Amino acid sequence: MAHDRTDLWTTPPAELLRPGGGFDLADMDRGDAPGWSGGKKDSKAFLADRAPLLSELQERLFAHGRTGGDRSVLLVIQGLDTAGKGGVVRHVIGMVDPQGVALRAFGVPTAQERRHHYLWRVRRALPKPGMIGVFDRSHYEDVLVPRVQGEIDEEVWKKRYREINRFEERVAAAGTTIIKVALMPSYEEQGLRLMERLDRPEKHWKFDPGDVDTRLRWDDYQAAYADVFANTHTDAAPWHVIPADRKWYTRLVVTELLTQALIDLGLGWPRPRWRVATQKRRLAETMSEESLAEAAEKARKKAAQFQVEEEAYAATVNEVDDDGPVRAEESAADDHMDEPATSRRSKQAPAEKKHKKHNNKDKDKKGKKKS
Ligand code: AMP
Ligand code: MG
Repeated sequence: MAHDRTDLWTTPPAELLRPGGGFDLADMDRGDAPGWSGGKKDSKAFLADRAPLLSELQERLFAHGRTGGDRSVLLVIQGLDTAGKGGVVRHVIGMVDPQGVALRAFGVPTAQERRHHYLWRVRRALPKPGMIGVFDRSHYEDVLVPRVQGEIDEEVWKKRYREINRFEERVAAAGTTIIKVALMPSYEEQGLRLMERLDRPEKHWKFDPGDVDTRLRWDDYQAAYADVFANTHTDAAPWHVIPADRKWYTRLVVTELLTQALIDLGLGWPRPRWRVATQKRRLAETMSEESLAEAAEKARKKAAQFQVEEEAYAATVNEVDDDGPVRAEESAADDHMDEPATSRRSKQAPAEKKHKKHNNKDKDKKGKKKS
C-alpha cells in the first residue's frame, strides 16, 4: 500500500463537501478539486491503492450480514444527465465484489409505482444487512422533477423534505449508513458531454432528447438542488456536494467517502459459533496423512503472509481513519465457543463509537485475510 498517496488529501472530503452554513451552490467552482493536492495521475494511483482495502472492508460487511449483523451502507447518487453517476458505479463500486452490492436505478415511475407513495419503490430497494446499496437517482427525483415541471407546489415539496428526513433517519437507526452524493458539473461541461454523446454513434444510446429539455431548465434544477441541500442535509444522512467537471475527482471523493464509512463501522471478521479445534479434528479424521501434512505446510506458509498483510491493512486503515485506528474485533481464535456471531457493535451511538475508536489502539492488527 502506498501510504504517500493518502497524504494528497489535505482535508477529508467528508468534511469539505458538506453543504453546511454559508454553502452556496451557485458559488461552487465545478472544475475544482477541493481537498486534493494531487492531479489526475495521482488519483489513478490512489484508486489502485484503495481497491484492495475497499474490497476487504466490503467483505467484512458482507460477512457481518451473513452472521446475523444488521449493518449496511447506502450510497445515494444524485446528479443531472452526464453528471457521472454511471462512472461512479463502474469505477468505484466496480472495485468490490458484485455479490455484495444491491444497485438500483430509479427512472420515471412506472404505472404501478405511481399507484403507491413515492417512497414505496425506495423502501423496497433498501440494502439488506451486509450489503452496499447503491441508488442511481433516488427519492430526491421526487422533489426535483415534479417541482421543476410545475406538477407540485411548494407546500408539497416541503412536506416531502420532512418525510424524506424522517424516512432516512429511520433507515439510519435500523443500521444503514447513508452517504448522499450530488454530482455537480458546470453548465458548459454538461453541454460538452451531451454533444459528445451525439457526436459518437456508440454513445447515442445514452442520449435522450428529453436531456435537452432538462438542460433548458438548468437554473430551475440548480435552485431545486440548492433547496434540497438546505432542507435535507441531516446528521443521519448528510449530503456531499461534489464538483464534477473532473470525473476523476468525483470518483476519488466517492471512493474516500465509502472507504471511510466502512471503516467507521469497525467490523472485524465474525467469530464462528463452533470451535475451530473441534471441527479441525473432525475434518482431519476424513483426510490422509499426506493431505494433512500438505495442509499443515500451507498453513505454516500462510501464517507469515497473513501477518504481513494484516499489518499492511491496519496501517492503511489507520491512515485513512485520521480520527483514530479501526476497531477490529478479536480474530476468530480457536476457542471462542458457541458465541453468537452477531457484531457487538451494531447500533452504536456515535459517542460510544468514538470512544471505542480511541480505545482499541492495539486491537487493530487483526483480521487481514489473504487476498
Ligand atoms: P437516466 O437516469 O438517464 O436513465 O434517466 C432516468 C430519468 O428518470 C431521468 O430523467 C429522471 O429525472 C427520471 N426520473 C427518475 N425518478 C423520477 C421521478 N420520481 N419522477 C420523475 N422523473 C423521474
Ligand atoms: Mg439520461
